[in-house]
Amino acid sequence: MKACVLRFPEGKIKAMTFSYDDGVVEDKKLINLFKKYGVKATFNYNSSHFGEYNPTDTLVIPEGHLTADELREISADPQFEIACHGHAHPYYASLPQAAATSDLITNRKELERITGKIIRGFAYPSVSATNDVSETALKAADIAYVRTASAEPSNSFALPQNWYKWVPTCHHKDANLVFEKFAELKETVAAPCLMSVWGHSFEFERENNWELIENLLENCHSNPDIWFATNMEIYEYVNAFNRLVLSADGTKAYNPTKIDLWAGICTKNVRKAPIPTIKIPAGETVSLLEYLS
Ligand SMILES: [Zn+2]
Repeated sequence: MKACVLRFPEGKIKAMTFSYDDGVVEDKKLINLFKKYGVKATFNYNSSHFGEYNPTDTLVIPEGHLTADELREISADPQFEIACHGHAHPYYASLPQAAATSDLITNRKELERITGKIIRGFAYPSVSATNDVSETALKAADIAYVRTASAEPSNSFALPQNWYKWVPTCHHKDANLVFEKFAELKETVAAPCLMSVWGHSFEFERENNWELIENLLENCHSNPDIWFATNMEIYEYVNAFNRLVLSADGTKAYNPTKIDLWAGICTKNVRKAPIPTIKIPAGETVSLLEYLS
């Protein structure tokens, strides 16, 4: 077992992330709820709806979708991440690889042009898709992670092993029940736990059940064990942790990244949770000696 076990910022043993698709007007109400509870979220948007990319474009912004100004406003808030969802919400399984790559790149470029941000996250625009876009196309478009979707909960609290197949824990319809289990989890010497929720905000309006998400946010937002992050922040943190360098004798840990990291220390002398947790600041080397003696 490795001496350093991933812990989230401030040594937390759990993280939660929310991911909402399609860029519909109901996102404004959902965003206000996320703001009310101080919970971060990722919004996965198509770009054809914004209709700004070509002055001769005949696309009309359909009623029900956000405007480019609203997209800019959301993306300017560090509480939220904007990610790709296909330029025109294509069914990727029916597209040749070149067309899928082109659609992804167009999606990125348009969202980046409107927001001024670098956008590398992606959520599949079809439920149950796990391999509709080849890894070659995803790499060509320089996509960092891919969130899949399923109507059925995976109930998995594990960190993604393959960032191009990030299976969420559950759709929001199941999230309150799943959260009860998540809240009960205790620290172990293993990697920490992640609860990832996905959905569409229009479903709350259609099903008249906004209380589902409000109850969940009310229950989770003040839990001191949980780090709330966007999908990209989870990706970047885990990848930064994986770059941690240990000395050959295991007595020092060096953090070569620009992200402060936290590690649980698990050695032959410290094998049972709760394990000591240390901060390894960005660019610094920290001694682990006191845990080895
Ligand atoms: Zn969609």
